[in-house]
Amino acid sequence: MKNVKYYECTICHKHFDKELDLMTCPDCGETGILEIIFDYDYIKTIVSREYFQTNKNYNIWRYLPFLTVSDKYTKDTLNVGWTPLYKSKRLKEILKIKKLYIKDDGQNPTQSLKDRASVIACLKAIEKGKETISCSSTGNAASSLAGNAAKLGLKTVIFVPKRAPVGKLIQLKAFDSDLIKVNGDYKAAFKLSKESIAYYGWYNRNAAINPHLVEGKKTVALEIAEQLGFQPTDWVVVSVGDGCTIAGVYKGFYDLLQVGLIKKIPKILGVQSEGCAPFVEAFRNNEELKEAEENTIADSIAVGIPRNPIKAMNAVKNSKGTFIAVKDSEILSSILLLSKTEGVFAEPAAAASVAGLQKALELKIIKESETATVIVTGNGLKDPQSLLNTITDWLLLEADIDEVKRHIEDTKEKKI
Ligand SMILES: *Cc1c(COP(=O)(O)O)cnc(C)c1O
Repeated sequence: MKNVKYYECTICHKHFDKELDLMTCPDCGETGILEIIFDYDYIKTIVSREYFQTNKNYNIWRYLPFLTVSDKYTKDTLNVGWTPLYKSKRLKEILKIKKLYIKDDGQNPTQSLKDRASVIACLKAIEKGKETISCSSTGNAASSLAGNAAKLGLKTVIFVPKRAPVGKLIQLKAFDSDLIKVNGDYKAAFKLSKESIAYYGWYNRNAAINPHLVEGKKTVALEIAEQLGFQPTDWVVVSVGDGCTIAGVYKGFYDLLQVGLIKKIPKILGVQSEGCAPFVEAFRNNEELKEAEENTIADSIAVGIPRNPIKAMNAVKNSKGTFIAVKDSEILSSILLLSKTEGVFAEPAAAASVAGLQKALELKIIKESETATVIVTGNGLKDPQSLLNTITDWLLLEADIDEVKRHIEDTKEKKI
């Protein structure tokens, strides 16, 4: 890892040798999340606009100079990253904003942004000679880990809360993971996974604890910037659970600023659900995070005790962004709004970013004259149930053309 200088604790700011096999700060314990400090002078000798222009690797590995894995096994992985960035025409008109882009990370191999972290976890496990990886997850980190591990021949032991949605559970079964449904919420699943990992010595994919995973997640920001010719939008909007994704978004832009590829870091808007909004509250009151209920349909961001509070708060503060909370009903409407205007089907936690953008525009936190990118973090088929519950107008006709004619006449006036 020539590109890395050292680890730094986000609490006590002590530095640790990059060759040490560390997860968290030895002095601060498990809340002492480590930041990986890169050697940008070294990275600058490799990356440039030309480097990207001639790089034919259209996946996460085109950003290897910014990552902490060796290139030894990168050929063997699933094809993670380089997801589409769509320029919005229709949704932009409805929301009334100058320019809007949609980063569809539901197009990753296991249909969520989590693949960007999981593939790194798998390669790290292989580098360390581990055969089993484990994590606790609200669902996507789990199914993503299981898929990426399956490709590389690693075993997975996965802890999920009782109510993880069926789309994610079925992926776990398909990818042959040892699936442990915990009779409790995500907090309970996290605790049990931690104890089990400590007992068995499996490789730990818990995103906040493992500092390498934010580095994988940051590739979403590297891509957004590159796809926009290194001129990212004024705002980037992303939903927030544990806080690792938003921390990654910031880190990606930070890296690019350090190597001179972008001129400024976009303001980052973190979106939570009102039913579980510990970041929104702590940010508003300028205080420490308090444990919250996990009361939302957006299961991927139903995180009552976020595990990465410092990095996530710094992402928003340092980028001069903010946090916002949206209602579950607004999340549901934004799933439909995004699908019918852009053809991108998002799971609830992913559509929360669209709901957050809409609210921020209403509140004039984001101005009409500004530009924004929303990150769609997961695909809608992961969790069809909440949307299914809202659909009442299923049509069933007799096999008779007259019935079809009547139906077409009836719905003629219907506007999209
Ligand atoms: C995990 C996840 C998030 C939030 O990421 P955190 O790192 O937990 O903040 C948002 N959306 C989806 C679809 C996710 O799976």
